[in-house]
Parts: sequence; structure tokens; C-alpha cells
Amino acid sequence: MRTLDMHCDTLMHCAFKWRDDIEKGDLFELDGQVDLKRLSSAGAVGEFFAVYMPPADSYITHWNTEFIEDEEYIADCVQIFEQSVARHTDIAAKALNAEDVEKNIKAGKVSCILTMEDGRAVLGKLENLKRFYDMGFRALSLTHNYTNCFGTPNSLDPRLNEHGLNPFGKEAVEYMQELGMLVDVSHLSDGGFWDVADICKKPFIATHSNARAVAGHQRNLKDDMLRALAERGGVTGLNLCPPFIEFTEGNTHTSLEGCVKHIKHIVNVAGIETMGLGSDFDGIFGTQEVGDVSQFGKLADALKKEGFSEDDIEKIFWKNTLRVMREACK
Ligand SMILES: [Zn+2]
Repeated sequence: MRTLDMHCDTLMHCAFKWRDDIEKGDLFELDGQVDLKRLSSAGAVGEFFAVYMPPADSYITHWNTEFIEDEEYIADCVQIFEQSVARHTDIAAKALNAEDVEKNIKAGKVSCILTMEDGRAVLGKLENLKRFYDMGFRALSLTHNYTNCFGTPNSLDPRLNEHGLNPFGKEAVEYMQELGMLVDVSHLSDGGFWDVADICKKPFIATHSNARAVAGHQRNLKDDMLRALAERGGVTGLNLCPPFIEFTEGNTHTSLEGCVKHIKHIVNVAGIETMGLGSDFDGIFGTQEVGDVSQFGKLADALKKEGFSEDDIEKIFWKNTLRVMREACK
């Protein structure tokens, strides 16, 4: 199944798994939901590999390790990413832009795209953004779940959710579009979203967010936001995390039916060109009917039953995201 999935947290698991021996770190075959082997045998076009920045307290509580400085953690993740593509040139290759992805499709290779989730390591300096761009990062989620130099994350507190970008955040978004790095609004406050929509002249993305009208979680996008995203030529990626698909107490399962509901809604509100994939594999809990990166065919079948054409499915699964890369990635 040809897919270009805009978000997974696989690199984080690798960075901790091989913490004491980063040189051994490899994306080829892993216990989680994403690896190069399965991407390749499934016929995937590509995967966005996020360097997700763990919250400081999670190092001890979740990973049972001392705090790792952000720059060291980023370097570890990038090293694993780089050495993985260097070791498996028969099936995978790095991609910085749409041209690279197209070249890799022709060569039968999975495109690996490096992204960052949480811009805290930018530390309010444009030169850091440029440095990350030069390291190969081609998308950045401005915030994760904490306030940083860009702005405020989405929040249950309506006042916080209205917060726009900081002055630096505004300047940085403009600069990212100039550089050719995708601006990702997933996790950002609603106010921040609207600032991004105002500033961006090229398409921007929500790598892993669904429709708030279908599942009322604040991580999802409201209809007017989906329309604004569509107006700028952007894409939102279907997130398979259970509460983002069905926001009911204690829900720990993502059904195909739930996925189809979001896709139908987003397509109705914002058009077929606005829908993409953003599984969030290896970063979500519970179970998913599309259980790993090799199982997107199930979603394609479910969409066909609902009347989606082969063309529509290709747009959703990879072509829309490739279009955005063509327009906003250098
Ligand atoms: Zn996320």
C-alpha cells in the first residue's frame, strides 16, 4: 500500500533502547508499529520520523534514566536515523523534499523524512532553526504539550487555548516558510493555529490531528480550522490515537469505522485535498484496527466500501502530502 505517513515516534524508542550504544541503533526491524522492513514490504512511499522531545520529568518516571540534554538527545536520534538509511540503501533513502521522494519512488525505496516534535530546543533563536534545517529536519511541530519559545499548546483551558504565537513564534513561522521547513500545527493552541494561518503564504500542515466535530478532543481541529488549512493548500494527517478518534470515557481502541468517520467529515468540510495520514504510531496507547504501518490496506478497503475512488485514496494516503512537500519543502 502506497502511504506517506506524517508522524511516528519510533526514533524516541530507538534512542532509549540503544542509549548506551547509539551506534547499534537501527530502524530496520523493531518491536513497535513502524520499521523499515515493514514499510518496505508494504510498499510505503515514505514515513516522517519525528524526533519527539520527551518532557523533562518523563526521563525518570517513564524511561528510568537520568535527564538527557536536548542537544544530546537530538543528536542520538539523528544518528540512528542517518545510520539506518545508510545501512539499508537497498530499501530506504533519506528525503528532504518532493523531488527526493519522487526519485525514491522510482528506485523502489522508502523515503525517510526527519521531523521534530516540539520546538523547545530552538530556544528562541532563528539560527537554531537554520541549524536544524541544515541537519535535515523538514517539519517542526511548533509546540508539544508545554509552552515554549513559539507559543502555547492546545489546552482544555479555553483562555490558554486562545493564546496566539509569541512574537518569536511569528517570526519563526515566516522564517521556516522561507527556509522550506514545514510548519506543523498539531499540538498548538487554537490561537496559535490562527496566527500560523495568517502568516503562512505556503501550505502548512497538521501532521497528526483529526476533526474536533467528530471527536471533541482539543488535539483535533475545528471545522473552521480545517477550512483555513484547506484554503492554504495544507493537509491534516489522520491520528490513530483512540481518544482522538472517539472521545468517550475510557476508550482505548481505534476502529476502522471511527477512522472512516473522521476522513468523511474532513473531506466533506475541507475537501479531499486536505486529508492525509498521521498515524502517530509508537506514540499512542491502546489498540488500533490498523495496528501497524503494514496494515493501511485495511483502511483503503474500508474507504472503498464507502465509495471513495482509487484516486481519492491515493490522494489521502500519499499524494496530498507529497503535494505539500513540493510547495513548501526545500
Ligand atoms: Zn504528538
